[in-house]
Amino acid sequence: MSKTAQKRSLETRFMEFEVVCRRCQSKWQPAIARFVNVGTDPDARLGILINTMHHSFCPQCRLKQYIDTTFEYYDPEENIVIQVRPEWEFKAGGGEDYYLKRLEDLVYKYSKNDVRVDVVFGLRELIDKYLGGEDAVEAAKAEWYRRKEVAKKKHEERTLAKTAFEPDSPDDAEDEDSTTTA
Ligand SMILES: [Zn+2]
Repeated sequence: MSKTAQKRSLETRFMEFEVVCRRCQSKWQPAIARFVNVGTDPDARLGILINTMHHSFCPQCRLKQYIDTTFEYYDPEENIVIQVRPEWEFKAGGGEDYYLKRLEDLVYKYSKNDVRVDVVFGLRELIDKYLGGEDAVEAAKAEWYRRKEVAKKKHEERTLAKTAFEPDSPDDAEDEDSTTTA
């Protein structure tokens, strides 16, 4: 190898990824995380656990597509960079030897950084090996549900405030004569 290893940035970064809809052939360019620093972007962990990471919807027909591309997951607390590769690659590439080869490349890639590294194939392996498995998935789902409820409540409160303070029909404005039970 002629190139020399260089110190890698450990900041979250994205790139635009061209996707072609497999149903209607529309093209669009969602921003996809190529490197995730979960210390600064903790929601990435949540997105992986609830399986929304790297999903994008076709702007024409709304078909959901999973963008099966390699990315790296950095956990500063554990001081580890995990390269997440497509799941199908493991078998297609030749199994354990392929893993060791990719790991060797990754060790080299980060040799100037003081971090541990590993390679996994597919989000399932990442979750089971590093994110806490099924328990973590359940906890993330509960957290996501809780957030949705909070958002829903906020929306309801806003709607309530809107109808209370901004009557939108003239009928509401003529309510002055009605008796109140104060
Ligand atoms: Zn489509």
